[in-house]
Amino acid sequence: MSDEPIKLAEGAMAAPRQSGRIENHVCEFDECGKRAPFGFAKPRQPSHWFCFEHREHGDRHLAGVR
Ligand SMILES: [Zn+2]
Repeated sequence: MSDEPIKLAEGAMAAPRQSGRIENHVCEFDECGKRAPFGFAKPRQPSHWFCFEHREHGDRHLAGVR
């Protein structure tokens, strides 16, 4: 399989802009609630969003640690 539609699994990455539409993601960290510009996604799994402060939790998500 060489046709992965997205490639985000290699680390933190700014959320891609979707042609004029900015999605308002919110940090998933407990009671944080800040805007979350950092999206983390693995193929065939829902993406997770974290703010700058908590993006390390996204790194852990990518590493498979909960
Ligand atoms: Zn946060």
